Amino acid sequence: MITGDKLSEECGVFGIYDLDGGDVADKIFYGLEALQHRGQESCGIAISDTYGDKGNMSVRKGMGLVNEVFRKEDIAPMKGNIGVGHVRYSTTGDTTIDNAQPLVINYIKGTLVLAHNGNLVNTDELKEELAHDGAIFRTTTDSEVIAYHIARARVKTPSVEEAIVSTAGKIKGAYGLVISSPRKLIGVRDPFGLKPLCIGKKDNTYIITSESCALASVGAQFIRDVEPGEIVTVTKDGIQSNKSLCQERKAHCIFEYIYFARLDSKLDGISVYESRLRAGEALADAYPVEADLVAGVPESGVAAAQGYADRSGIPYRQIFHKNSYVGRTFIKPTQEERELGVKIKLSVLDAAVKGKNIVLVDDSIVRGTTIANLIRLLKNAGALSVHVRICSPPFLYPCYYGTDVPSNKQLIASEHSTEEIREYIGADSLGYMQIEDLYKMVPGLQICKACFDNNYPVL
Ligand code: SF4
Repeated sequence: MITGDKLSEECGVFGIYDLDGGDVADKIFYGLEALQHRGQESCGIAISDTYGDKGNMSVRKGMGLVNEVFRKEDIAPMKGNIGVGHVRYSTTGDTTIDNAQPLVINYIKGTLVLAHNGNLVNTDELKEELAHDGAIFRTTTDSEVIAYHIARARVKTPSVEEAIVSTAGKIKGAYGLVISSPRKLIGVRDPFGLKPLCIGKKDNTYIITSESCALASVGAQFIRDVEPGEIVTVTKDGIQSNKSLCQERKAHCIFEYIYFARLDSKLDGISVYESRLRAGEALADAYPVEADLVAGVPESGVAAAQGYADRSGIPYRQIFHKNSYVGRTFIKPTQEERELGVKIKLSVLDAAVKGKNIVLVDDSIVRGTTIANLIRLLKNAGALSVHVRICSPPFLYPCYYGTDVPSNKQLIASEHSTEEIREYIGADSLGYMQIEDLYKMVPGLQICKACFDNNYPVL
């Protein structure tokens, strides 16, 4: 499903274990709110108690935002000191409550709870293996396939960690997983590190989650990232690590830095905010222009615009007012309504733009409708020229790892040259980030940039 003129991330995960036995449901709620940008279709929380009966589980899931699905009176009865939460945006599987996570399965060894961010690339083959063994699937997600493989392996292995190691050796693709078994909280990250996952701690409570902003939301300290290919297990004795699946080659999704991740997060040692500043600097070096001011399209274009301003010496100015109380544009289905949605959400500060030559920085162009509308609004308000600078190279190829890059036909760059796009959106000049400059955003990091250059790390 495509939502508006932006790409969508699939999911965010949040797992927590209070070794002192305190209730954790409210912390999961706040953690999921901090991860809301990663998925707005459905969410869920599953809690149990490591001191109670194995398999005694409290689960609630629903369609919608975290604060729509969970009210105070829903959280209060959810008792327990270990739990997993999830926010979802579907790229595989339908948008139904059945596919909402965390997934809870009961099997001979007890209960397994799993929350997944990412997409596998070998789901069909893994599913077929299970189907031949008589498995019946309740959902259409690849996450269920992972959970069943772990459960099946667990029956033949002495510990859930070993079952996870054996399953992780089979699954291919992108995954940040948080799993709870009755007395353990486990985090697993794919060997390329396509999806982010980090560990935090507050007092005697451990957290494993997609982004560090979720740690801050519950007052926890960031400890470290889960290494690509690493499996971390939290038990009452503390935290243990298994690195048997770690490898040299990594491929961190560059789009996390360009757009998905929250500005206050730090992923794999690199601050998202600083990476966006550097994106703006690279754009200023590659595409200098004479202008009166630099502005960013809220929210993800703002830090890059500041970087462009710093490097070019052209002052940064705010030129849009964002109305945060307007409904999200993606729920409006038609193109016309989407365009109207953009107009309602962002209004132009006429006094800031009248008679000005403007550099406008945005994170990406998918169809081009949003940026075309904004340029029209700026020119109607009296802007003399609008020079567009984009923090990503043109989107040309699909993402198989959980990002909703639309089909080629809907990607404006797949059928039009930069000059044609410039003309279509009504810009006076247009500069896309050059592929080699992506490395300047995230110095020292091995990245995935397959949606720009067709070079997939795993297929
Ligand atoms: S293909 Fe693009 S969106 Fe997908 S993981 Fe790679 S960089 Fe990220």
